[in-house]
Amino acid sequence: MLSIENLSATVADKPILKGLSLTIGAGEVHAIMGPNGAGKSTLGYVLGGRPGYEVAGGSVEFAGQDLLALDPHERAAAGLFLGFQYPVEIPGVSFVQFLRESLNAQRKARGEGPLSGGEFLKLAREKAALLRMDMDMLKRSVNVGFSGGEKKRAEMVQMGILDPKLAILDETDSGLDIDALRIVGDGINSVMRRPDKAVLLITHYQRLLDYVKPDFVHVLAGGRIVRTGGPELALELEEHGYEAVAA
Ligand code: ADP
Ligand code: MG
Ligand code: MG
Repeated sequence: MLSIENLSATVADKPILKGLSLTIGAGEVHAIMGPNGAGKSTLGYVLGGRPGYEVAGGSVEFAGQDLLALDPHERAAAGLFLGFQYPVEIPGVSFVQFLRESLNAQRKARGEGPLSGGEFLKLAREKAALLRMDMDMLKRSVNVGFSGGEKKRAEMVQMGILDPKLAILDETDSGLDIDALRIVGDGINSVMRRPDKAVLLITHYQRLLDYVKPDFVHVLAGGRIVRTGGPELALELEEHGYEAVAA
């Protein structure tokens, strides 16, 4: 699904990723943990194609394509979903409208026709029900006045509707209470825990991993993956800290 080889990247001319390699297979959930400033978010941004995050070397193959050669919207259309810590608010644009436009833009980039209003609403209702989100919430402006938990639930509905192959979720658990954490965990499991999909969870803490059990846990430090293990590695990190484990 995703094969990152020897990836180097700079931000504001500063080398951040320094030869990072990581392979994610279909059906797998991977977690990346690591100290503050290690480059975890940078990795997410580089994979998403965010301006200002310059690739200096290495390669990334995603679903058989050269990911780094694609524009950000082409990456999304190819099945890459990025969830970030701080969801944007868009006053005046309803979530339903926003989701329909996002989905139809992706369909267009794949050479598929748009869904009609009726078809889209049917899909939106189905995904909202799956994630126990009130349809009335989706009629409100994107994220405006949403609580932390509601934003996350809306993001999970968005992920369900866009139906990506690979979801990269950066600190999606930060600042969430236990109930919201469960929503995110259930959302990831119900939408993404499938043999043809994969998930990369970037997280500081072990607690999200109680809800979404990773197949692999990696430690990112100094711009590369310095250790890989199973779920027990996350517990070890929680107990002993990054320095002890990554050294
Ligand atoms: P993490 O997510 O692991 O905490 P980041 O990827 O956010 O780490 O940051 C890695 C390093 O890159 C840090 O030293 C940070 O200061 C630097 N960095 C990130 N974004 C920028 C930016 N836009 N301009 C300058 N430096 C940045
Ligand atoms: Mg950080
Ligand atoms: Mg970060």
